[in-house]
Amino acid sequence: MEYEAVIGLEVHAQLLTASKIFCGCATAFGAPPNTQVCEVCLGMPGSLPVLNKKALEYALKMALATDCRINPESVFARKNYFYPDLPKGYQISQYESPLAEHGRLDIKVNGDARRIGITRIHMEEDAGKLIHSETRPVSFVDFNRTGVPLIEIVSEPDIRTPEEAVEYLKGLRDILLYLEICDGNMEEGSFRCDANVSLRPRGAREFGVKVELKNMNSFRFVKAALEYEIRRQRALLSEGREIVQETRLWDTTASQTVSMRGKEEAHDYRYFPDPDLVPVRVSEAQLADLAKQLPELPNARRARFQTEYGVPEYDAEVLTSDKALADYFEAAVKEFPHPKQVSNWVMVELLRVLKKEEAGIASSPVTPAALGRLLALVEKGTISGKQAKTVFEEMWATGQDPEAVIQEKGLVQITDAGALEQAAREIIAAHPKEAAEYKAGKTKLLGFFVGQLMKRTKGQANPPLANEIFQKLLK
Ligand SMILES: [Zn+2]
Repeated sequence: MEYEAVIGLEVHAQLLTASKIFCGCATAFGAPPNTQVCEVCLGMPGSLPVLNKKALEYALKMALATDCRINPESVFARKNYFYPDLPKGYQISQYESPLAEHGRLDIKVNGDARRIGITRIHMEEDAGKLIHSETRPVSFVDFNRTGVPLIEIVSEPDIRTPEEAVEYLKGLRDILLYLEICDGNMEEGSFRCDANVSLRPRGAREFGVKVELKNMNSFRFVKAALEYEIRRQRALLSEGREIVQETRLWDTTASQTVSMRGKEEAHDYRYFPDPDLVPVRVSEAQLADLAKQLPELPNARRARFQTEYGVPEYDAEVLTSDKALADYFEAAVKEFPHPKQVSNWVMVELLRVLKKEEAGIASSPVTPAALGRLLALVEKGTISGKQAKTVFEEMWATGQDPEAVIQEKGLVQITDAGALEQAAREIIAAHPKEAAEYKAGKTKLLGFFVGQLMKRTKGQANPPLANEIFQKLLK
């Protein structure tokens, strides 16, 4: 029997507000434990939470950017459970009346367009963090994260493959980064995801028994965990065995999913509306105002790069995968209006050094204008494409302008035909055998001669000119 996977994802994104969702405590990552806490986020009796306006705005922006219908009124609810990192004994979330519903995200997987439904986006607070001692049998609790604002984005079970899951996640993360409302850092947990996976016979309508997967803190782990889980479930089903409804964790060292808890141990949260918080009312005017503030989003920008600059889809995808990189590209094109050449340089040379230095585009010592001028110098024939790479590296290392590097290194290309021709004659005289073979029809040897000339001129000969000279002399 052939099976198909049904995957739904729950994404938690930490909003980039300066303060927590219901109190004024700071949200900065990495502060000493329990230094960013107060009566409200510690759940002291008599304290009252008040919703952070910025957090609401950010959540609404994400809802607008994913075409959700925003509910005119949504309600905060208490999700009750006990855990040592949860001082109140409940987490403030939204349940029956979430902020927004019925959204979507369009993705592309191997060239095929897919639309993934978004069931809902709601707001909630984060819990604290347990720190387990490695030397003693004790655990500590850090409440700094308690009350940090999150949005939870729940997808429809529309995803069919691990690749689609990863593209969907990347798409969501791109939007969050474009909106500048989340830093998208998966390792620090500010963008995290749980998955529901089940299998059913291909063509069937009903869903199979689903397993929840947790603890996947990179795109690579999401893909690996889903692939493993689909294999595991398929093997069980083809042996005629049943899938147990449970929560499983991705074990990165063993590269497998392991059972964490069964259905019997699943929490019954007993949600109820939080009496301390008034319902959230969002007006049409407020939404219209926020909609005006939305930047151009990744999918739109990707499409525009293809139409406006004529770059291939692949280039458009790479360039727009990072807002700063896309901005950089557009600024460089302003200086040197040959988009495909700029795109090649950004994707190959610039991304290569950024990766090597583990740096972000914002810290690039080569400004987009300087890169544009460098490419213009190649276009003019002042330097060759090969020399440009050397110049680029020097610009990266020193932050100098291309003109200054070329001057300093004496890298100007030799375009003086007379000088090159003299050198070419000497090279031919020194290689009579190759010259005879070339004349006898082995024209591939042209590359050999040009190479010799390049060597002699330390790469400063203009390559098209060198080709031309040898072709003429070896006739
Ligand atoms: Zn607080």
